[in-house]
Amino acid sequence: MSPRVGLGWDLHRLEAERPLVVGGVTIPHDRGPVGHSDGDVLLHALTDALLGAAGLGDIGDRFDDRDPAHAGRASHEFVTDVVAALAERGLRVASVDSVVVLERPRLGPHKLAMRARIAELVGLDVDRVGVKAKTHERVDAIGAGDAIAAQCVVLLEAVD
Ligand code: MG
Repeated sequence: MSPRVGLGWDLHRLEAERPLVVGGVTIPHDRGPVGHSDGDVLLHALTDALLGAAGLGDIGDRFDDRDPAHAGRASHEFVTDVVAALAERGLRVASVDSVVVLERPRLGPHKLAMRARIAELVGLDVDRVGVKAKTHERVDAIGAGDAIAAQCVVLLEAVD
């Protein structure tokens, strides 16, 4: 079977007094994403990338945000659910790469922790997981510190 690529993207508004969770890592800050779950944009983009690569739709199809069962869920549960669905179909994750766009705080000191957490969730060595941290150069809502966005690409391969 040929390899499959998947792409995911997500954005959440940031508001005061919410925890800032990115890539499964809680980062000290005075605001965090608004969302039905914990609003982890990086894990949401990863979940969508995995689903897209496998031909399984998108995060909204699988984890309906109008369903109270998903309220306040930790986003790592979405990733592990989808990784299990991939395994049932004879697929596994071969590599992950991603970009997080956040004006502040700087995510550089947290990149390795995010890579390690994602690697653990998808069953990869950390050197097969990329996380880049960018700012939005003070442009638009992300640049004003009012939103966070992430983009993720994954490669799936068949289990031998
Ligand atoms: Mg989201």
